[in-house]
Amino acid sequence: MEFATFADRAATIEAESADLEIVDQVRALLEDADGQRDDGTPDLEVVARFVQGRVFPAWDARKIDIGPRTCYEAIARAAGPNVTVADIEAGVAEVGDIGEVAASYEFGGQQGLAAFGAGAGGGRGSDGSGGGSDLTLESVYDTLEAVAETEGSGSHDTKVDLLFSLFNRCEPLEARYLARLVLAEMRIGVGEGTVRDAIAEAFDVPVEHVERALQVTNDYGHVAAVARSDGIDGLASLSLEVGRPIQAMLAQAGSVTDALEGWDEAAVEWKYDGARVQLHHVPGETTRVFSRNMEDVTDALPEVVEFAEDALEVPTILDGEVVAVDDEGAPMAFQEVLRRFRRKHDVAKTREDVTVRPIFFDCLHADGVDLLAIPLVDRRRRLEDVLGADSGVDGLARWKLADDPRAIESIDAAALEAGHEGIMLKDPTSTYSPGRRGKHWLKRKPDVETFDCVVTGAEWGEGRRATFLGTFVLSVRVDSGGGESSHTRFEPIGKVATGITDETLADLTELLEPHIRAEEGKSVDLEPAVVFEVGYEEIQTSPTYASGFALRFPRFIGVRDDKEPADADSLERVERLRS
Ligand code: AMP
Repeated sequence: MEFATFADRAATIEAESADLEIVDQVRALLEDADGQRDDGTPDLEVVARFVQGRVFPAWDARKIDIGPRTCYEAIARAAGPNVTVADIEAGVAEVGDIGEVAASYEFGGQQGLAAFGAGAGGGRGSDGSGGGSDLTLESVYDTLEAVAETEGSGSHDTKVDLLFSLFNRCEPLEARYLARLVLAEMRIGVGEGTVRDAIAEAFDVPVEHVERALQVTNDYGHVAAVARSDGIDGLASLSLEVGRPIQAMLAQAGSVTDALEGWDEAAVEWKYDGARVQLHHVPGETTRVFSRNMEDVTDALPEVVEFAEDALEVPTILDGEVVAVDDEGAPMAFQEVLRRFRRKHDVAKTREDVTVRPIFFDCLHADGVDLLAIPLVDRRRRLEDVLGADSGVDGLARWKLADDPRAIESIDAAALEAGHEGIMLKDPTSTYSPGRRGKHWLKRKPDVETFDCVVTGAEWGEGRRATFLGTFVLSVRVDSGGGESSHTRFEPIGKVATGITDETLADLTELLEPHIRAEEGKSVDLEPAVVFEVGYEEIQTSPTYASGFALRFPRFIGVRDDKEPADADSLERVERLRS
């Protein structure tokens, strides 16, 4: 396909604003991409990516990786001796679009260096008359590939030469889209969903098949080509490949209430504070580790490679988190992981300062079988199989099925106590949806508000905790009357029992014991003296508590030494927050 044809179509698409029309235009473009490159790859593969502003498939580690200035240099050189990089910068600052700036120049007069680079020819119309461009999609792709593969000393100049060889042959419209492609700023309104729908329409295949094929291959070009050549059967035969990363499934914020209202039970996992990784391993052959953006980070994380080599006996793709740990194995701050994550040099030395450890929570492929379409509980079982491990063992995320909020609270407390972020709640029946942020994975919402409550009662613990006060009754302040007759009382709004370590319970007992007014069985009545700060998920009306309200899932945050009961939160604030 001529690059000019592509540029024309891109302009038509850009001018369109209705989604359906855009899909239709992309469909027409895909249908027209009927040529093929010298190596036999269909133009269609490149077109399906270029139209989204991508040069390579998403799984491909290669990147054009040049800054705007390098691109501007090439454009300035192609535009002639009177144009400087500063002119281009000024133009972009003014109109906000490199495409428009590139399209404003007459290219083609510059000879000599133009002969440099893959597929490059001389300047357009050597008599300067500006005949049609001879750029093909293939020569643009090949040259951009050469740019991506140029490394080492002198690479900057080589890249500029290569880009110059393209711009120097461009008509204005071609320059417009070439510049945007190079800088990954296509912006013609074509997103992933548009291309998915256009592939389905162009080659008459159901969109769900296209979607599934995209999820497992992560490659719009390949999926388009297979849809055209082999239809539904071809798409259905596409599968995951160990070594080719796919998009990670994402979580949305949600509460315990959301989880238990939506599902019979929840898979409760610890949420680890690190960086997402996808591990691809074939025993004895290869181990690759990819970041959430599908960058290859294998060399920066030798511990993960060693873990895989030790633990895995079959080909696998695992999803997990890499955390930094100190000498005792306790988690360190997320920033420490980042120090390791992008490290290209001195990895061995940095490793001495910060050790990382992978923790896996999902299994996408095991021993030749793709697992995306089976329920989470079954994937978890496979994960435990391939790691030969039970929950809590090295490398395996903590996991428990629960349908009782109190059980979930105590898992949350244990995760926080162990220095992790809290919990993830997942629908155990859900399949793995790459790239999707959906309601099947919930990261527990942080508390929106906290409350300062007066502790007006408690209960003695049981067993090991018999000498500690636990289960604290939380009350809010109710002011009544005014002037001389004003008085304050405290009315209960909830109880907090979880999220407190034995050490803290001992301290709290010491703090509260002097304020015991009465005891009955295990219950104690406390004089209002101590203020707790608590988090909660929501406020409900409640017939149980005298305040008429209940805090749902209260969590102990700390003692407010700086507050007197009279400074605690009031019933009035509760009512305000409810409305
Ligand atoms: P956030 O980054 O706050 O959107 O939370 C989602 C991220 O938490 C994921 O992308 C993972 O990197 C991380 N994470 C930690 N533990 C888990 C887990 N058990 N399941 C899923 N994601 C987890």
